[in-house]
Amino acid sequence: TTPAAAAAAAAASSSCVLEKADCKILELLQHNHGLHLSFLQENTSSAVAVSRDWGLIKHLQPAAVLHPTSVHEIAELIRAVASSSSTNLTIAAKGVGHSINGQSQVCPGDDEGDAIRDEDCALPFVEASGGELWVDVLQATLKEGLAPNSWTDYLYLTVGGTLSNAGVSGQTFRHGPQISSVLQMEVVTGTGQIVTCSASKQPELFFAVLGGLGQFGIITKARILLVPAPQKVRWIRAMYSDFEVFRRDQEMLISEMEDQLHTFDYVEGFVMMNNQDPINGWKSVPFSPGEDQAVSAMSSSTLPADPDAAAAAASSRVLYYLEAAVGYNLADVGPALEKRVEKMLAPLSFIRSLMFSTDISYFKFLNRIHDLELSLRAQQLWDVPHPWLNIFVPASSITTFDSLVFQQLVPVEYGGPILVYPLNRNKWDRRTAAVVPDEEVFYLVAFLRNVLPSGPGLQSMLDENARILRVCEDLNGKHYLPRYTEEEQWKRHFGSEKWTAFVQHKHMFDPHAILAPGQNIFPRNQ
Ligand code: FAD
Repeated sequence: TTPAAAAAAAAASSSCVLEKADCKILELLQHNHGLHLSFLQENTSSAVAVSRDWGLIKHLQPAAVLHPTSVHEIAELIRAVASSSSTNLTIAAKGVGHSINGQSQVCPGDDEGDAIRDEDCALPFVEASGGELWVDVLQATLKEGLAPNSWTDYLYLTVGGTLSNAGVSGQTFRHGPQISSVLQMEVVTGTGQIVTCSASKQPELFFAVLGGLGQFGIITKARILLVPAPQKVRWIRAMYSDFEVFRRDQEMLISEMEDQLHTFDYVEGFVMMNNQDPINGWKSVPFSPGEDQAVSAMSSSTLPADPDAAAAAASSRVLYYLEAAVGYNLADVGPALEKRVEKMLAPLSFIRSLMFSTDISYFKFLNRIHDLELSLRAQQLWDVPHPWLNIFVPASSITTFDSLVFQQLVPVEYGGPILVYPLNRNKWDRRTAAVVPDEEVFYLVAFLRNVLPSGPGLQSMLDENARILRVCEDLNGKHYLPRYTEEEQWKRHFGSEKWTAFVQHKHMFDPHAILAPGQNIFPRNQ
């Protein structure tokens, strides 16, 4: 019996999980103008372990776990499940399980592919396995002086997992989400077919899978565009007390500038509550101990000498800070670089005495959350429930959203970062399944709170999220990394045209609704 057949048989009473376990890069070869990455899966974990995810809110155990070692094994498993007499059998691909609400959990109960188009071959790319971690993709491509141009804030996520959503970070305004940089994929559909697809070859499957919440196939390989990687990054943080000024500056920074040399490579904004919390209060802002003092002075009775900073500290329940970064090479260091950065900052209206900057390697910058992860792990604060909420709010409503949510709904002792930064709609390919507001500029707003022993309980946080989501939907915003329970809610989320296409694609590519049942969109059928 093959592992796939054994897994299907073992799961006949319930469901299976395909899990990426420990991956080892076996091969890193120059391939055309790009790189080829492949890895081996090892059998390490149990059904109990795979029933956990980042949210720690839902825990559905699979009947069996398969660690696939080849695309054929995945195809074999899908075919076995599709033809099984057990009509409640489903399959959840699992990346690292960094979903919040069980999206990569179950429900209860080739060869290289064809050559890509000539014009694509002219571009450097990496071919990564669907289960590969982005941090490993980065490490491998940096050896060639190259890197993907669009990222997530955290790199210990899988290629297949983020491409099933969108993959958003501070580079998205400029390069689009990660799904905008995919040249080609290998996908195993819900009928067990192994298909190589791209914008020109099997485009319907290609665009359905990008942002498709794992509904149409399992991504086993993705060819991702690469660009030259800078060696270093100048990383800047600047404080604001006025939301309108903060918002205007952010939108100016992401507007299409003809002068690419003076466009930041990364722009993100944060909401900071006026408290001492090192995660999202004043202490979270500076880069060095000296700078820390300048900022903590703002929240103490000793007001800083700078009148703008003093006024901000005295009057604000909420403050905001901008993060911007620009890449450069060691050969660029000198007065020209300083002038360039000065010119980029000159039009901005942040509080001048509260601007901090640091220079770090490109790898460290992209992997910046990892140090926080290590510190939280050491304090036993990593594996705690995470009732996170990610939404997109149209730019025309973001001021209203600020006054209703940041200024009122969010408690001052909020325990976790809040992100708010703008993105350009024209960098999102409308043909993908990803759902965003229908407005040229919209904001990613992320509430990244953890349940801590000393703080509010999980249910009260979930209730607060539901209130925020209602405000977002009333303002024509959209849920990112959505989780709904009713078909009507999914229809509203997608809008009628996109929903019709989504349903059609489900019939075409996964007619028995075997895949990604944890998203709770389609019930398993015959
Ligand atoms: P999983 O949670 O394992 O899976 C997610 C969904 O994709 C499931 O439905 C699963 O079945 C499906 N899936 C998994 N692998 C495949 C595959 N190979 N083929 C098809 N379907 C598949 N997101 C952002 O956009 N930007 C961020 O900055 C960001 N930061 C984050 C930081 C942290 C600390 C965490 C925990 C999450 C963050 N996320 C961010 C969210 C993240 O992108 C999603 O949770 C993503 O789904 C996680 O990937 P994963 O590999 O853990 O996927």
